[in-house]
Amino acid sequence: MVGGNPYILVFYDIIIYMSNILWYLFKMKNIEPSYKILNPDNCVMCGMCLNHCPTYMISNNEAESPRGRISIIYGLNNAMLEPSKSALEHINSCTLCLACESVCPAKVDFYQLITAARDKYFKNQKIIFRIKSKLISLFLTNNIFKKIITFSISLLNQKFLKKFNKSIFKFMNYTQIQNSYITKTNKLDVQSSIGIFTGCASDIFEKNVATSCISLLKKNNISSEIINNIKCCGSLDYNSGRIKKGMLFNKAALKEFSNKKYKKIIGYASGCSTFINKNKEDIDYQDATSFILDTLNKKEDLNFKKTNKNICVHKPCTTKSAEIDFLGLLNILKLIPNLKIYTFDDDYCCGAGAQNILHNHENSKNIVKSKIDFINLNKIDLVLTFNIGCSLNFINSINLNEINKVQVIHPITFLNARIAI
Ligand code: SF4
Ligand code: SF4
Repeated sequence: MVGGNPYILVFYDIIIYMSNILWYLFKMKNIEPSYKILNPDNCVMCGMCLNHCPTYMISNNEAESPRGRISIIYGLNNAMLEPSKSALEHINSCTLCLACESVCPAKVDFYQLITAARDKYFKNQKIIFRIKSKLISLFLTNNIFKKIITFSISLLNQKFLKKFNKSIFKFMNYTQIQNSYITKTNKLDVQSSIGIFTGCASDIFEKNVATSCISLLKKNNISSEIINNIKCCGSLDYNSGRIKKGMLFNKAALKEFSNKKYKKIIGYASGCSTFINKNKEDIDYQDATSFILDTLNKKEDLNFKKTNKNICVHKPCTTKSAEIDFLGLLNILKLIPNLKIYTFDDDYCCGAGAQNILHNHENSKNIVKSKIDFINLNKIDLVLTFNIGCSLNFINSINLNEINKVQVIHPITFLNARIAI
């Protein structure tokens, strides 16, 4: 333990620094020349990030690693590389899980690096990539399109269409749709109420979470309602290379949040919470899972109905930045009698992030594979996850692997169903 003594800390830093340099020099000899062009001002090429990167893990390809991506971006920005299809593919395949950032001794700001590159070279992307990105944004943020998608999915989930759905729209099959929200509680006073931000994709695919959230809060004498007039937190566009558009959505959302209509704003997709936390100023925003854990932790007489299910609790990459206490969640779940709780035995991102599920579908499938094997091996009944992208990726892979009995739900929905009034 080195804590406390400043001399030991300085010595410790020097040792780390020297080992990084040695590691860098050693690696330089073993790396293909094309990867020696990365920016020496930032990355020291130590390679410490490599084994934390999900895309490197499945490909074993330097160009699919954080270090490879830094090199490609540096090459592009300094006109040493053309913004070719293959160069951009390596930038697009990053899931923005930021596992690399958390272990990087040089503190490379990976989020900034990748999003800026995606934005700068958006015009050079394949036409299909650009169309897809724009359509996803349109479908998830325009109210008319949202209604059409919600209706189509509900229709395709009807029993008589299940077979057709299963063979054609595997992705939609098994998506949990609820046709309507409880939009208002028996309101006490709006200013003492909690405003619930649904997020764009969650507003279509996880309406049930908003309803569970209202119900769970009501059981704890907290009034809440859904905020209807916000299109998106902005991360959808921002992360896929349309920074300007993303910031427009973000500013509009933050403006609405700051109108002091509610005591507090909560949102239940951890990806949205991460982006809002990054940009919020003077706004009382908290991730909904985090808020509900705080609420339940204050209760002395917490009672849960028993269940014999095997659940696996997934930890999205955005857990820390959304300020969700994952251990706290596990501790609350442990209070449920007979419940058997698992967590995945690897820490890798599930592969869904930054629209990979749509642009790099094969990657997402391959990255999540070890988790699907884990679900199978341990006979998991329910996967709990609090980010919509992860949820859709799990649902999709569960469908493709035909283990449809496994349900994917948000922890708020699960807690609400188990809590005894
Ligand atoms: S953000 Fe994640 S996927 Fe992207 S380079 Fe870093 S570790 Fe790899
Ligand atoms: S990004 Fe950071 S961890 Fe990765 S090789 Fe560069 S300095 Fe090392």
